[in-house]
Amino acid sequence: MQQVDQQGGILRLAVPVPLRRLFDYLPPEGVEASRLVPGQRLWVPFGGRKLVAVLVARVGESSLDSLKPALELVDQQPLFDERSRAFLQWAASYYQAPPGELYSAALPAALRKGKPADHWAEQWLALTTEGKGLPDTALARAPKQQALLQKLLAGGPQSRTALRADGVTAAVIRALEERGLAAWESGPTVPPPLPSAEPTPPPGLNEEQRQVLAAIPTQGFSVSLLEGTTGSGKTEVYLRLMERVLEAGRQALLLVPEIGLTPQTLRRIAARFPQHSIAALHSGLAEGERAQAWLAAAGGQADIVIGTRSAILTPLPRLGAVIVDEEHDGSFKQQDGVRYSARDLAVVLGRMAEVPVLLGSATPSLESLHNALNGRYQHLRLRHRAGDARPPQIHVVPTLGQQLEEGFAPQVLRHIGETLARGEQALVFINRRGFAPALACDDCGWLADCPHCSSKLTLHRRERSLRCHHCDYRRPLVDSCPSCHSRALSALGGGTERSEALLANRFADYPVIRVDRDTTSSKEALDRLLAPARDGEPCLLLGTQMLAKGHHLPKVTLVVIQDADSGLFSADFRASERMGQLLEQVAGRAGRGDLAGRVLVQSRYPEHPLLQLLLEKGYGPYARQLLRERAAAGLPPMRAMALFRAECEEPRWAQEFLEQARGMLESLAPSSPQLQYLGPVPALLERKSGRFRFYLQITAEQRAALPPLLSRLCAWAEGNRNRRLRWAVDMDAQELA
Ligand code: ADP
Ligand code: ZN
Ligand code: ZN
Repeated sequence: MQQVDQQGGILRLAVPVPLRRLFDYLPPEGVEASRLVPGQRLWVPFGGRKLVAVLVARVGESSLDSLKPALELVDQQPLFDERSRAFLQWAASYYQAPPGELYSAALPAALRKGKPADHWAEQWLALTTEGKGLPDTALARAPKQQALLQKLLAGGPQSRTALRADGVTAAVIRALEERGLAAWESGPTVPPPLPSAEPTPPPGLNEEQRQVLAAIPTQGFSVSLLEGTTGSGKTEVYLRLMERVLEAGRQALLLVPEIGLTPQTLRRIAARFPQHSIAALHSGLAEGERAQAWLAAAGGQADIVIGTRSAILTPLPRLGAVIVDEEHDGSFKQQDGVRYSARDLAVVLGRMAEVPVLLGSATPSLESLHNALNGRYQHLRLRHRAGDARPPQIHVVPTLGQQLEEGFAPQVLRHIGETLARGEQALVFINRRGFAPALACDDCGWLADCPHCSSKLTLHRRERSLRCHHCDYRRPLVDSCPSCHSRALSALGGGTERSEALLANRFADYPVIRVDRDTTSSKEALDRLLAPARDGEPCLLLGTQMLAKGHHLPKVTLVVIQDADSGLFSADFRASERMGQLLEQVAGRAGRGDLAGRVLVQSRYPEHPLLQLLLEKGYGPYARQLLRERAAAGLPPMRAMALFRAECEEPRWAQEFLEQARGMLESLAPSSPQLQYLGPVPALLERKSGRFRFYLQITAEQRAALPPLLSRLCAWAEGNRNRRLRWAVDMDAQELA
């Protein structure tokens, strides 16, 4: 049975539920279908609940025979324009995301909950007919009122935001209203004001910057990778590109990493474009401010939109260019829920909107570098520093056979102590990410490696086994070193809590500031945490990648990388890339003030060719070498990769579920050189919050081969669900953890 309505009176809606499909409804009682436009929100009944859905299309027929009416129309004007809807639909099918959840992710919380958009309509103070008829000296006895009258006569209606920014008081406004000279009117939403900044004219570009800017096409779709060390003037190039976009009457979108959206960044941009309205979208905003900024962006009122990951999902009707700063940053990839990559979507959006995309980094991701080297992206470079910071000295501290204290060599602890005693600051990176322990001998340096691959075996304690995450070879755990018979075997990257405890104890006279995703859920928390460091008092900062950039900490003169090996030998093939990015970024950090910097890198293998390459030649040549290794190993970016993850309190169920999934996939598309399956294998972090985690890895020569396969996989999984088991598709997975 089908329901047919030739007038297109059936509503196809994205409903925020974890199902990979749209849902059909009838218009709300008493609302003409013709009033309904795609992109509007409606309240709908769903399984006994009331949800906020987005109208995707009006259609003439439905495969269902009884449709429920929607409950209520929320928006007069659509929130999502046509391109934005097409873009979200593309993303939903590429990432296998439930469309309703993707629309939800695109909306700010307040709008997701169904708040009316008019709530944030800007109020404009306009002269009444009577007001317009007055000479501009009419209120000479009340100078403040007269000033406001003149402003309105000369400049037309003024927004409440602008009046507030100009210091016009409510009393003065009320006086004009009471005289019947002016009245408030509703208009489109404008972004909340940013911290004010003195307008600053741009510096003249240097020759390299000029060439880079000239090479970015003004019109049409293009992607350029701007590779340039920290301080080489990339941001200046972004600002000039924005200027060009604004002159053409278009909107510029700038994506920055989670911790990159600092008040300094905003001030720098606000100072450059005092005449333009700027919407900042980030997690530090109050709910109402965020909705206001989003509506100004989506309504086209904001000329510049700056935001973190989810800003890429915001509709931008006048989009003129997309810029992604620090494009290699891990925070552009959403790691749960809808697992999209904002960096990759930026390229898709650029193509749909036919505008240039600029990806910038001092340490480009191997994905982008590969595309630049093979000519798919234009490769632009800034080789010289625009500023004049001195490069720091980098030393490797060999740790093999040393008496380590919770992972630190005595000389490293001594250096930290001396740095603090001199009144300076030290920054210690403890590699916590990836939890990909390889097994190593502390006495001779033996490493458990795979007899079939050039990769290291990964320690899985629960199974008491060593497994290869590349070919699935496995062997039982050993108690002593096969090479020197020492029993001093340890997991690379293990014991981070104890390392932290040691430092906190040893240097208890100084503030020890721990920065990671757990301690710093918000921008404000991070700013507060870092206050002593900014004030310049001696302190010890402990951190992850988060600390590597974005913060100007001129008193940091010592940087310690506790364990380069867990980066170099991790079973997570991306660990070496991250390690290189970290080292290059901290090298750009240390000694930025007038104090010289020193970087100490602990390693069991100071002679390792990759480490040598990184330390001697820097990230560029190192990254190119990693690309050759990835090619040899058949790994991304040369092949596309997706993970099908499952987790469950009962490990056997998760494993069996993935085995069945693999069987189903192999019957659809048998494995071949073009398409390969691996697993199920335990995730590098095997157990999390009481659940055992496994994944199935699928790699393909052609990226386009994966989405159709994954779509079938999802349909299968939705029909074969064990309620106690959670599963997820991770297209272009970034972490094997
Ligand atoms: P990046 O984004 O590559 O780290 P920035 O654009 O922030 O580099 O530039 C680093 C510093 O150099 C900033 O203080 C910036 O104002 C300054 N700068 C950049 N380009 C120029 C230029 N052409 N002339 C003078 N100063 C410049
Ligand atoms: Zn040994
Ligand atoms: Zn192997």
